[in-house]
Amino acid sequence: MSARPAVFLDRDDTLIANVPYLSDPAGLRVLPGASQALGALRRAGFALVLITNQSAVGRGLITESRLHEIHDALNRLLAEEGAALDAIYYCPEVPLGDDRTIIENPNRKPGPGMLHRATEELDLDLDASWMVGDQISDVLAGLNAGCRSILVGSNATLSELPTEAARERAFAVSDFAAAAELILNDHSRRLQPREELARP
Ligand SMILES: [Mg+2]
Repeated sequence: MSARPAVFLDRDDTLIANVPYLSDPAGLRVLPGASQALGALRRAGFALVLITNQSAVGRGLITESRLHEIHDALNRLLAEEGAALDAIYYCPEVPLGDDRTIIENPNRKPGPGMLHRATEELDLDLDASWMVGDQISDVLAGLNAGCRSILVGSNATLSELPTEAARERAFAVSDFAAAAELILNDHSRRLQPREELARP
């Protein structure tokens, strides 16, 4: 089987409402339209991979087993809404500085480490894949892995990207549902035969 394209997605403020250092599964709330968007992407053939920085673990604010409980609860919640993820990758490392554009650890976004691991383990096609998230570190993690990236929400702006080359491969939309629409539009354009595209 040939490698699948993926949509890598951030967790907090992208898939679920952001509760800083979420430690109770009861606090989970999937954002409006997100489950439907996951379903549409899956039907189009995209693997769906959650990529999340969880410094709360490294800071000792939650244990890894509690994080697993939260992610089990998230998977149940998504299943109730008819959606599913293919995998969840998290990085427990604590950042040293607060510049979200600097890679301190390859596995912590903006580093591409988690995306590379997923690509190997799930046989993904990075060239055809996307990263979606609400922080500039999400956008950069995708670009650093060789994907295109979509910034969602209003927590950051693409002007924070350090280079013009990065800005050319990044997009900004309102939320995950809108990001999925952009990805699916691009996907269907690519699937059209050339003569279709050439027609006026
Ligand atoms: Mg986030």
